[in-house]
Amino acid sequence: MIYLDANATEPLRPEAQAAALAAMALPGNPASIHTAGRAARAMLEAARTIIAGRVGAKPADLVFTSGGTEANALALHALGAGRRIITSAVEHDSIRAATPGATVLAVRPDGQADLDHLAALLADNTPALVCLMLANNETGTLQPVRQAAALCRRHDALLHVDAVQAFGRIPVDLPMLGAHSLALSAHKLGGLKGAGALITLPEISIPPLIAGGGQERGRRGGTPPLPAIASFGAAAEAAGAGDALAPLRDALEQAARHAGAVICGGDAPRLPNTTCLALPGVRADTQVIALDLAGIQVSAGAACSSGKVAASHVLAAMGLGALAGQAIRVSLPWNAGQADAGPAGVDAFITAYAAMAARLSPRAG
Ligand code: PLP
Repeated sequence: MIYLDANATEPLRPEAQAAALAAMALPGNPASIHTAGRAARAMLEAARTIIAGRVGAKPADLVFTSGGTEANALALHALGAGRRIITSAVEHDSIRAATPGATVLAVRPDGQADLDHLAALLADNTPALVCLMLANNETGTLQPVRQAAALCRRHDALLHVDAVQAFGRIPVDLPMLGAHSLALSAHKLGGLKGAGALITLPEISIPPLIAGGGQERGRRGGTPPLPAIASFGAAAEAAGAGDALAPLRDALEQAARHAGAVICGGDAPRLPNTTCLALPGVRADTQVIALDLAGIQVSAGAACSSGKVAASHVLAAMGLGALAGQAIRVSLPWNAGQADAGPAGVDAFITAYAAMAARLSPRAG
């Protein structure tokens, strides 16, 4: 089987697995003051230091959560209170579903946020929280976060950035982005599922969403999942720039275009590992099943937990019309460039995609 669905979850990195196993061997609770507790605490703090360091933040400004969804929810809770919420039209459902009634920031046909629209939305200086993701999970499109941050600062608005798909694939730096907070998730960069982080500027205070025994300096109750957090730190340390994947992605796109595909958001700057391929006239779920039968795993737009595939809200917001229900996401895992998983996987995809397009595409018939 060839796994090309890294944006759903990355394969576990060996460093992350080793760190998780080491954590599982420790009996202590990081909150305990005895020797075993202190050993667990040291492992927790080591992971915090690595992850915060990788985004240019201080360890004290990082709160561990159960994942990206909870990090986004905590950001909305802490930064959004009493503010008008503005979310881009292409945000992940963990932002969209948590902000009913939010003002929607439009995107341009290439998937990037419309900054003129943002300026107009902020013009009246009403206190606002803007949510703008760094990289889109379906198309890989990078957002103009620095420019959006400058606009927010001019109008006294706060900016939360969902960097879940970006972290570990492109450089992410909180001060350079100019944002007020960042959400991260361990399993999107090759750590275990079950850990994430909200990182904020030092002046942001974080009342807990989940109250408890004072863990995370009172900002998130609950005993932290040490194996997942240790794996998060190890994965953050191991992840290099994902640039090596770009040539593989480009070769894949060239072949897909040749077979009749449209690259959604192909004109915008994107993550190096992601492409979104629409095949006119062929339903996305039909494509996913056809490729699965050929041994290749990709996804149809956003992964959908109910097993039902709806037309992508991201592609609809980009104005792609019927193509929004006819696109698949191919996302190369961190190890795709390595001899055992890499070029062979991309070659197999190219062969299977061309065969599928020839068989199913109305244009081909
Ligand atoms: N944000 C984005 C952009 C994502 O792609 C995802 C997961 O698909 C999440 C947030 C949620 O992360 P988690 O699965 O860790 O809750």
